[in-house]
Amino acid sequence: MNNPLSKQRLTKQRKLILGVVKSTCYHPTAEQIYKLAKKNLPKISVGTVYRNLDVLVDQNLIKRIDIPGEPVRFDADLTHKAHFVCKRKGVIYDLKIDKEKLAELIGEETFIEEIDDFNILLFGSSKTDPSERSLRKGQLTK
Ligand SMILES: [Zn+2]
Repeated sequence: MNNPLSKQRLTKQRKLILGVVKSTCYHPTAEQIYKLAKKNLPKISVGTVYRNLDVLVDQNLIKRIDIPGEPVRFDADLTHKAHFVCKRKGVIYDLKIDKEKLAELIGEETFIEEIDDFNILLFGSSKTDPSERSLRKGQLTK
């Protein structure tokens, strides 16, 4: 990896992978990212995609969403800390839950001094199409 050419190529690959994740809004899996990246860089390997995704996560440029029993999904939108998983459709929606809302939900749990970060996954079935405006904005319908 000391060869400047290989380093440059890695950077190019990493940029491409980051671009692929950013270009999608459906929280793609590594496999889906690999297929999209391959269109631009036909020689890219699955291992390279996985490695670069790990690096991008370490660099806080993207985040991973771990769903039990499902392949890991990736998200370039770092503002959303909560997701709704529709297992029936295999769709993940962004939810707008901020620290204030979270504090309301937690209520009187007195052992918490401060919340630094959070990561919430809700599971269920969605009734509306992902392209519908209310869900794209990340709002839960009652
Ligand atoms: Zn998201």
